[in-house]
Amino acid sequence: MTDRPVRTRFAPSPTGYLHIGGVRTALFNWLFARKHGGQFILRIDDTDQQRNVAEALQPILDGFRWLGLDWDEGPEVGGPCEPYYQSQRSERYASAVQTLLENGAAYRDYAKSEEVQAEREAAEKEKRSFVYSRKWMAESAEDCARFEAEGRTAIVRLKMPREGKLIVKDLVRGDVEFAWEREQDHVIQRADGSCLYHLATVVDEHDFKISHVIRAEEHLSNTPRQIYIAQQLGYELPEFAHIPFVAEPGSKTKLSKRKLEKYMKNRDFKALNDLGQTVASRIGLETSAETFNPVIVNFYEEVGFLADAVVNYLVLLGWSLDDKTEDFSREEMIENFSLERVNKAAASFDPPKLLSFQDRYMQKLEMKKKVAKCVPFLQKAGLIADPPDCNTAPRLTEILTAADDRIKVAGDILDFGAFFQSDEELQFDEKAFEKRIRKPEEAATLLKEFRDLLADASEFDAASLEKLLKDWVTSRGIKIGQIIHALRVATTGTAVGFGVFDSLAILGKESCLARMDRALAMVG
Ligand code: GLU
Repeated sequence: MTDRPVRTRFAPSPTGYLHIGGVRTALFNWLFARKHGGQFILRIDDTDQQRNVAEALQPILDGFRWLGLDWDEGPEVGGPCEPYYQSQRSERYASAVQTLLENGAAYRDYAKSEEVQAEREAAEKEKRSFVYSRKWMAESAEDCARFEAEGRTAIVRLKMPREGKLIVKDLVRGDVEFAWEREQDHVIQRADGSCLYHLATVVDEHDFKISHVIRAEEHLSNTPRQIYIAQQLGYELPEFAHIPFVAEPGSKTKLSKRKLEKYMKNRDFKALNDLGQTVASRIGLETSAETFNPVIVNFYEEVGFLADAVVNYLVLLGWSLDDKTEDFSREEMIENFSLERVNKAAASFDPPKLLSFQDRYMQKLEMKKKVAKCVPFLQKAGLIADPPDCNTAPRLTEILTAADDRIKVAGDILDFGAFFQSDEELQFDEKAFEKRIRKPEEAATLLKEFRDLLADASEFDAASLEKLLKDWVTSRGIKIGQIIHALRVATTGTAVGFGVFDSLAILGKESCLARMDRALAMVG
């Protein structure tokens, strides 16, 4: 480690969504900064932005806020190195280009793209690696004037070394050797004066005093040219750590938002996506695969995952403390995180594992917080008022207690929407009603008999109701199965759910009777 103050950065392009792999990279940056008492900076790479930046950035910032990954400098919070948007830093980049031109590390190139292309093709034909001839390189004002007289325009290229090698000391991958001869004279400024990523990122790293560049491994091959630029500008180099990408389920290929069709063939991925779709449809959320799927972090918030569970799952995608510890609080993560323990191999996105973290965190969550997580889902589904009335929290507490581990994500509370519908509005599941109430010959008669028994019940808690029903079943000489399913469908509208007696007790006598009467009236 250098003794510079630790400053890390994450540099998203405003694409309108936060990729789960990207957020894992951001998390490592955040943990590293927090561990070393440093700063975590968000920089916005919006130089190629066509769309509305603010709109395309919002889901990314929302995702970070939801996950609890706070940034010390960047959009919305500002900071001493403003602006943090690349689109607002073009003067800085242009002046860096000027310096590189003046010290001979870059040159104006007047080649037409088809001329460079022709050289590239010739090299391919001769099976040698392409090296630009620098034929249209301007080395003096006279050269520029001459080329311009021919109607040519200039771009700026790096004048890269063509021999020797560079060893990049990577904190994850160790020493990585690059031969300069394999590098191209990369373009750093276009004809219209705008600058490219490689130049911009180096200038920003310097201006923001970034001590550690922790980023996805696909940028490792960009590092030599960035080091070259930094050296030629006389900048102190940051440390580099290239971390493996998050791979597709069961594969080593990078997880991509564009291959959803393929991932849907994976049973686990599909199950996770289906869970989200079910919740979304119940709360009337417009979803398109483009904006709502398990590759996108915002999906998890919409479905009712817990941010702590998602973060805990993500930290293990490429990092481990040992071969057994899985559950980490934020504090434990910060305390234990180190780049030395980041794996070199890609980690596969594993939906069942993510779900198991979510399940564990949900079961551990204290009741008050669970209630608070579920309330917005009931509101979005139009089942309770906003703000909720005073009956909501007690009823939700009873339901959550009875439902126990059936509630895996907060959106699962909508499986129990029947408890929030009025007796008149309760919707009966058609199939269940047919099978359990309309079809069995004796169902309506038994339901009516038990309804009258319930009407006289003095105790309406689950245990008393169970005793009441069991005694009646025995004296009536029937099997419990002959009444229990009909009873469930008549009172909750569905054939599935937690214990019938808990359900009846939660609904209360008046509701149970009203619902059973409605069901009986429907049988006619
Ligand atoms: N905007 C770049 C990306 O999203 C940042 C690359 C970097 O971290 O240097 O890939």
